[in-house]
Amino acid sequence: MTTKLFDLSGKVAIVTGGNGGIGLGMARGLAEAGAAIAVVGRNEAKSADAVADLTQGGARAIAVAADVTDKAAVTTMAERVVRDLGRIDILVNNAGINIRKPPHALDIAEWNSVIQTNLTSAFLCSQAVYPAMKAAGGGKIINIGSMMSIFGASFTPAYAASKGGIVQFTRSCACAWAADNIQANAVLPGWIDTDLTKRARQEIDGLHDRVLARTPAARWGGIDDFAGIAVFLASPASDFVTGTAIPIDGGYSVMG
Ligand code: NDP
Repeated sequence: MTTKLFDLSGKVAIVTGGNGGIGLGMARGLAEAGAAIAVVGRNEAKSADAVADLTQGGARAIAVAADVTDKAAVTTMAERVVRDLGRIDILVNNAGINIRKPPHALDIAEWNSVIQTNLTSAFLCSQAVYPAMKAAGGGKIINIGSMMSIFGASFTPAYAASKGGIVQFTRSCACAWAADNIQANAVLPGWIDTDLTKRARQEIDGLHDRVLARTPAARWGGIDDFAGIAVFLASPASDFVTGTAIPIDGGYSVMG
């Protein structure tokens, strides 16, 4: 019973931005539970390394080069996954960027780039996989939000808008596709040590220590912290869980 609850054998998962950081942490968890993985990203060398990492652990994995802001590329990506791996059961919308500037300094191209990469991409990918999930008899969509889905910060107008929006988008998909046995949930990472935050730590004075002081777990998160939540939200264990937004943050969001 318990084994079956978290078993992903025979399932196929797409992880956007699965070639590094949180996406790779989730891909490793899904692969370990038995899923075949399609790693989607623009950097082909990085994706090839991630595929090697996943196959070394015994999983079936392919790399699909695609810019997730490009509707045609996303459509082709979904077609390729069905052709090469046979079906689509799980979609992790994880690709994301940040441009750190206050609202008065952010130009429209920067705003559009962050919104398209973090939010519009989730819409495009979810829409592209929907027919295959429906055909498979159900599916699991996992969208990556942020602490900025909950809080604001002076330097993240577009990022916070995209991450707030992704929670509302998740809830809409949960309502729309429940009848198709598709569950959609959001994961809200706290401060995690990845390429994205390495730059933030360099750019923002004192950030590293401020995060430590505010996090009850008293550490930054690592990408391995995302394997468990990915497996839970992708597996039968979460079949009655939909439309939620779950912080994976060592307690950051509940610290008074
Ligand atoms: P990384 O920079 O390590 O990973 C981002 C990934 O997104 C890369 O693999 C990149 O691949 C991919 N990506 C970016 N733009 C595109 C695009 N246009 N098309 C396809 N892929 C793209 O960052 P993280 O692992 O930290 O971030 C992953 C997610 O987690 C993001 O949504 C981020 O906002 C969120 N998050 C991270 C937190 C943290 O503390 N690290 C905290 C809260 C949320 P490639 O370059 O090959 O395209």
